[in-house]
Amino acid sequence: MEKQDLRKFFLKRRDKLSKEEVYSASLKIMDNVSKDSYFIQSKSVMIYMPIRNEADPFVNIDIYKDKILSVPKTYKEDIMPCLYKEPLKVSKYGIKEPVGCEEINIDLCLVPGVCFDKHLYRIGFGKGYYDRFLKKHKSVYSIGICYDFQIVDDIEPETHDVRLNKIISENYVIEGGYRWNLSL
Ligand code: ADP
Ligand code: MG
Repeated sequence: MEKQDLRKFFLKRRDKLSKEEVYSASLKIMDNVSKDSYFIQSKSVMIYMPIRNEADPFVNIDIYKDKILSVPKTYKEDIMPCLYKEPLKVSKYGIKEPVGCEEINIDLCLVPGVCFDKHLYRIGFGKGYYDRFLKKHKSVYSIGICYDFQIVDDIEPETHDVRLNKIISENYVIEGGYRWNLSL
């Protein structure tokens, strides 16, 4: 399937999830994240304000209690990590962002997405914000956050697509091309 078709297919599938499904899967995914060694070591993490049934990184905010927490804010073609604090305002993409921006240096980034593959490639909403961000910030460790059903075998990457360092879902951790089944 082409990128655009995968995007459409997986957005449609995710849109059908109930609030309860989003909540229970998010709890499982974020519990897996909280046990990840990179997550545990990180001091400053950028998460995201979920939209359209994305797995919710806020489902248990206690896991960030010893970390600096930031969320992205768009500036033209770029995103910038801004300290997570009220007030927030809905951006042109329908995503909440802090009104001001206290810019933060991060060592870890939780990356939302529409579809992922076992080689750590990702399809987003099609604007390339995370590709540009991760290309510029190579020392930032990136963890794709998704549901099991969003993981496919192969996405045909384009030259600008940046590979993630890891993907975490309810039952899988993918790292270095290997899929660990946590439920086994
Ligand atoms: P997404 O990753 O959100 O699914 P795409 O990978 O399809 O989106 O990228 C969307 C657009 O962003 C593409 O047209 C691409 O040219 C642009 N883009 C991505 N990364 C870069 C980059 N590093 N520099 C310039 N343009 C980029
Ligand atoms: Mg891309």
